[in-house]
Amino acid sequence: MTAAPVVIIGTGHAGYTLAREFRKQAPDTPLTLISADDGAAYYKPNLSKAFADGKDAQALVMKPAEAQAEALGATVLANTRVTGIDPQSQSITTDTDRISYSKLVLAVGANQRACPVEGDGIGSILHVNSLADYRDFRSRLHSKKRVAILGAGLIGCEFANDLGSNGFKVTLIDPLGWPLGRLVPEPVGVAIGNALHGLGVHLGLRQMATAVNHSEDGFAVTTSHGATIAADVVLSAIGLVPNTGLADAAGLACGRGIQVDATMQTSNPNIFALGDCAELPGGQVLPYVLPITHCARTLAKTLAGEPTKLSLPAMPVIVKTPVCPTVVCPPATDAGAWRIDGDSPNFEAVFESPGGEPLGFALTGDKLARRGELAKTMPPLLV
Ligand SMILES: Cc1cc2nc3c(=O)[nH]c(=O)nc-3n(C[C@H](O)[C@H](O)[C@H](O)COP(=O)(O)OP(=O)(O)OC[C@H]3O[C@@H](n4cnc5c(N)ncnc54)[C@H](O)[C@@H]3O)c2cc1C
Repeated sequence: MTAAPVVIIGTGHAGYTLAREFRKQAPDTPLTLISADDGAAYYKPNLSKAFADGKDAQALVMKPAEAQAEALGATVLANTRVTGIDPQSQSITTDTDRISYSKLVLAVGANQRACPVEGDGIGSILHVNSLADYRDFRSRLHSKKRVAILGAGLIGCEFANDLGSNGFKVTLIDPLGWPLGRLVPEPVGVAIGNALHGLGVHLGLRQMATAVNHSEDGFAVTTSHGATIAADVVLSAIGLVPNTGLADAAGLACGRGIQVDATMQTSNPNIFALGDCAELPGGQVLPYVLPITHCARTLAKTLAGEPTKLSLPAMPVIVKTPVCPTVVCPPATDAGAWRIDGDSPNFEAVFESPGGEPLGFALTGDKLARRGELAKTMPPLLV
């Protein structure tokens, strides 16, 4: 009888990076990846700068599923949704089959946060969290100009920059007083906002979208200020929530995400989780590529028989707003205050604890050069 494979559910950055790293450790162990999408490998951060790069969804594909399977020496079951996990019998059910596993890894990503608005246009609000989403978004933009973006966080600002610098008429709506309001202090956010404004992006700050309705020529977005914004396409960038559905139904411990220990083991010894779906020790969900890559390298060793604990240094995130180059290293706490040096648009802002210990930073413009040096002074994300 052939041994049951290691099974990875998900072929995003988490699933494929883990598979690549696992192959370095265990070249011959049977490996199966399963994905509800078409299994094409792509780099998700490119989605919010694809206009600038002159690439549509097809051009963003790095390798189709079949080529990935061959390169990894693995089975890749694309367009296959896992519908249940039975930890007792160490098997999963898909929409077509039942598959046994020796070890199971959940790399199932995150879902779009539900948009708390009213109106008959709710069902037409788009979000972009996959290549298929991006394909749809691009097709809806065809010969259209006006885009309303709900949410001025990382993803909202990046799309505003990409679309605004490529001829679209963008309105960026957010309840906070400045872009990246949860990540940077006011002067830094204002500098980013001014730069976006310079591209023609209209900033609808300190207000929330309350309704999206169909209008004669597109959509009417109503805000809590009573303003009405006309748009051809409405994009929600209000955040993601870890996809815990399968894990929860299988009785695995879930909190903000699928809870794992420092070896990325869930509450079941044969099931692991990483990526946007996972909640790391200390309650952290880190939906960024660099921490996921670290997690994949560590988990690959554990799966290959060398139990290994994760440690994560501070990892700054580049915000893809070339109109105002920005790097953030968000503090893990609100307890402290920002110390800000520089003049707009060149800021060095360091978030310090009440005792003066550096806990996070945000840099813009020519201060980006300080990124490496400052990162060394930051507390690790996980020891
Ligand atoms: C527009 C955008 C820009 C970004 N830019 C940056 C950036 O600049 N820097 C950065 O660090 N991070 C960035 N991020 C975040 C980063 O891309 C993500 O953290 C990362 O790609 C998540 O990878 P993942 O594999 O965990 O999840 P996903 O890529 O979402 O993959 C989840 C996989 O699970 C599969 N799946 C889910 N449920 C099932 C099921 N029931 N059965 C079978 N398969 C299933 C899906 O089909 C998919 O293959 C960005 C995110 C977005 C949306």
